Parts: sequence; C-alpha cells; structure tokens
Amino acid sequence: METAYRDLTCGDARLSHVGREVALAGWVHRRRDLGQLIFLDLRDRYGITQVVIDRHDAPEAHTVGADVRTEFVVRARGVLAKRLAGTENAKLATGDVELRVQDLRVLSTAKTPPFPINEPDAEVDDALRLKYRYLDLRREPMQKRLLLRSRLVHAIREVHHAAGFVEIETPLLIKATPEGARDFIVPSRLQPGSAYALPQSPQQLKQLLMVSGFDRYFQIARCLRDEDLRGDRQPEFTQLDLEMSFVTEADVMAFVERMVIEVSRSVTPERPIANDPFPRMTYREAIDRYGSDKPDIRYGLELHSLADVAAGSGFRVFDETLDGGGVVYGFAAPGMAGAPRSRLDELTEDAKRHGARGLIWMALEEGGTIRSPIAKFLVEGRAAAIVAAVGAKPGDLVLIVAGDDIHAQEALGRLRVDCAARLGLGDPDVLSYLWVNRFPMYQWDADGHRWDATHNPFSGVLPEDEELLATSSGDPSDPSPGDPAGRARALQYDIVLNGWELGGGSIRIHRRELLERSFLLMGHSEKAQREKFGGILEAFEYGPPPHGGIALGIDRWAALLTYQTNIREVMAFPKTQSGTDLMLEAPSPVDPALLDELGLALKPRKKPDA
Ligand code: ASP
Repeated sequence: METAYRDLTCGDARLSHVGREVALAGWVHRRRDLGQLIFLDLRDRYGITQVVIDRHDAPEAHTVGADVRTEFVVRARGVLAKRLAGTENAKLATGDVELRVQDLRVLSTAKTPPFPINEPDAEVDDALRLKYRYLDLRREPMQKRLLLRSRLVHAIREVHHAAGFVEIETPLLIKATPEGARDFIVPSRLQPGSAYALPQSPQQLKQLLMVSGFDRYFQIARCLRDEDLRGDRQPEFTQLDLEMSFVTEADVMAFVERMVIEVSRSVTPERPIANDPFPRMTYREAIDRYGSDKPDIRYGLELHSLADVAAGSGFRVFDETLDGGGVVYGFAAPGMAGAPRSRLDELTEDAKRHGARGLIWMALEEGGTIRSPIAKFLVEGRAAAIVAAVGAKPGDLVLIVAGDDIHAQEALGRLRVDCAARLGLGDPDVLSYLWVNRFPMYQWDADGHRWDATHNPFSGVLPEDEELLATSSGDPSDPSPGDPAGRARALQYDIVLNGWELGGGSIRIHRRELLERSFLLMGHSEKAQREKFGGILEAFEYGPPPHGGIALGIDRWAALLTYQTNIREVMAFPKTQSGTDLMLEAPSPVDPALLDELGLALKPRKKPDA
C-alpha cells in the first residue's frame, strides 16, 4: 500500500521493520502529551501504530505535535524502533514497535467530532450517526462490517464466475415490474406525461436475458421499493440476482446451496454451518412445525397439532374452533412452568399482538401436577394427554393457541421465537440455512377480488397442480375465493438463514398460454397484460427456454454474518425509518424550473383533519 505519502499502512509495522526509516499517514486516534514526549496513536483502516515525538530529537516535530488534536490527519516520518521492554501492546498487531518521529506534518485539521471515533462501544444516537455517517463509518465496528460486506460480494462474484455465470447490468430506468410493492417513478422530460419506474428487481430483464441465450446470468443488483420501512427493509437494497436456463428446481437449489456454503466458508470460516446439505421442508411443514415460513431451526420448541386430544375435551373454545374447521396447536417452553402470573399475562398479550385471539397455558409442575385455568373444564385425562402430545417434561410450560389454520400456527410461531430469545436458545455463531418450498401459488385478495401471487407473478406451478389454475366458473377472468387455483402450489423456493428469509426464487412459467392464464387469475385482463407485460409476453413468442432463478438479499446476508438485526448496520449510507437521508438531506424540494420542464407540480401533503 505504498504511496507518495506513506511507506507502510498503520497496520503493517512489525519487529522485522525495526531500523527502517518510514513514513506513515493517518488519523490521530489518541494523543498523550507527557511534556518531553508526545505519543500519538496513528490510525487508518489497517490498524494503529504508536508514534513518539521526543522534544530533544525532533524539536520542530514536537512543536507541530503539541497542536495536533484527535482526528487530525498527519504524516509522520521517522525510524521504526522496538518498544522498550514492558511497554509492548499485545492488543495491537503493531504493538511491539513504535515510530520515533523525525518529521511531522499536518495534512488536515479536524473539528471535535460529534461523537467519539476512538471508542468502538460508545452509545451514539442513531440520528447523529446518520447525519455524520462519514464519521460513523470511520469507527471500527462500521469499518469491519463494510469490509466484510466487500469480501462477501467479492466471494459471490468469484464463485459465480468460476461456475460460468455471466455478469450483466440491467437498467435502472425501466417499466414497472410488479413485485408486490409500490414503484418509485421518474418522470420523463422528453416524453411529458410519461414516467419510468425504478426496478423493484430485474425480474423481467433477467428472464429476457434467458430468451437471449445467456443461460447463466448474475448481477449484484440494486432494487428499489417504495414501502413502509422496518428493521430489515430500506427503500433501496441490494440483491444477488441470478437466473439459469434449462434447469429444474433441483438444479437451481443445488447450485445456490453450493454457492452459499462456499461463500460462507470464505467470508466467515469461523462460523459453523449447521447442516450440509441444507434441510428442505415444504411451506406446509414449516407452518405446522414452526409456525413460520422462515423458521429458525437452531433450536427445537416445535409446534404440535392438538386436534386429536383437544376434540371432545369439554373445553368449549377447542370444540368450537375444531368444529368450525380451525386448528389447535401448542408447544412446550422448557423450564417455564414456574412463570409468575405477570409473565403469563405478558405472554398472552404477546400472543394477541401476534394475531391470536387468546393464549391458553398449562404448567406441568416438577411433581407432575398440571396447573391451568382450563383444567377444570377438561374431561378426565385430557390435560395429561395434551401435555404429552406436545412432549412436555416436568417443569415445562405448554402454550396453546386455537384459531384459523395458518393464523393460529403463525401466532404461536412468533411466540416460539420470543420464548427462544428469552430462554437464550440458538447458538448465535451457527449459520443455519434451510430451504422452504411448495408455497401456495396465490392468496386471495378480497379487496381486489382476484388471486394475488404469493411471491412472484412469473413463478411456475408444480406440473401436477397445473390443472388447478382454474376458477370454479371455468372463466379464468372471473375468480372467486373457493377456486381450485387457491390450492395450486408454486415452483417457488425460499432460502432461510437463522429465522430470516435470505432469498427466494422460482422456476418460471415460460409457456405464454399458461402465463396468460395465471395473469388472468391475478386480475390482469388481456388488455392490461398487453400494457403491463407486453414486452415479455411477446418475447415468449420467440423461443423462451425453460428457466428459473433466485435473488438473495445481500444486505440481510451481510447483517446476519456480522450479528446485526438491522440492515442499516451493513449499508454505507442508509435512510432513516421515514426514508430520509439525514446526511445529504434527501428528499428535498425540487427546483421549480426543473419541475416545469418535467410538466410537474408537487402538491404539499394535506394536513390531517384537525
Ligand atoms: N425477483 C424476485 C425477488 O426480487 C426473486 C426471483 O424470483 O428471482 O424477490
């Protein structure tokens, strides 16, 4: 890393350099003035080197050093020397040596930063971090995370190139590709009254590249979706986007699985991968066993159906739920039988927040007695049968939810995650990848009175379910909630890591006739299809190969590999929860002249009625 300013970085100096005259450049991490001696810790992204300025040996440098403050940028030239015995710093890679300065130059001065740069653990207000993001990024934790992210992207590229993938960029100014979110639009100046959409993903473009014959494509692609933001969402994010031709679901999964393992091993070799090959489960199995389509399987706490033991139990809620076609599910929380009343109330509130109508608990005490508010309603032996059905052991607390299919399991699944966090289950170091597939093709959209793709409007259907892409009336443009289409399963597969959806993809429908049928079910009339998807439908008349692909969230992956729960922590310049860039102050008002050229007027948001 030698440049005109430096011979070594601040992380390079070792005993082998002792006696060499070198120049270093960097930021003043810390400064200690002992009068005769001034010590500077000089920092760059490679490390820290101790610099000593002795008034006797270098009086001019000493005068400069007296005025230097933390975060000044300086260049120090001198001789690398072995530190005096007993003053070595084992925490620094350069800790055996120090630079004895002959010449010190200030390259730039710095104001006192709004938060300390040299205290990695300092608690700093989030808004302040984002306003001064360039300083936040100077701090060690952020540097480490962005460096890991860079290694992640590098490893991804290497594995793909080695496997014969072609890296192709697709445009940002496109026509809307529906991925289920709102589009950001860019008004056209040259064609007033029209607008581009920013891509929610390169979905259609990568499929068109398959029509072109690039049978293995990938891209580190920026995606933009105008959604409400949550912890793992940002208006713009990055996907590893790939598509392959002449493949089945098994081919795509096999490649992606090897790629994910290779990349993980290369970027975080110290973190164990829980399962190789990755476990695979259907959506139905994931919901029934874990109450989630992105289960964290680093721990058990599996859900169990209580339909058999709850039927005819004497407890009205169970009977009515089951008679009405609902389900009753439960799981055993280990060692929680002694939970106090207040804790049980909290769990009930949590369950309601997660969408359950209520929560039923049964404590299996150490002595074997069962304590539960519903015990008195149950017929003889049923309480014991229920705790046995969930595999509870003495000391466990059984948590039960009765309700609609899937909803009840999902509410309980969220409670499972809460309990696991409280009990400290799940090794934080382990990377537990798995596949979930066989998702339903559609979900009923009552407002739009149509079937909506659960994932991607281009997802294919299992061959044996193809005939289900139909309505009860026989007319695909007249859907209703009871249609066979509601039972069709998609050739969709999601990859999950430690309870997060890392990515999802599918084998696509490449036959135009089937795609049109599917679009009709989704409420796109023939005219609307021509308007929205005309390009790809036409392309599919020119020999589209069978194809499929996937996209993985790079931000999520980087966050999980660096133990973060918010993707902001692995993005250089993210937005706040309300979509604001506090550093550059975007969004911002637009120059009226520019608006005029675009033929636009921006309406201020109406104040909510008082
Ligand atoms: N385009 C999809 C998405 O962004 C991924 C895919 O199916 O390849 O979620």
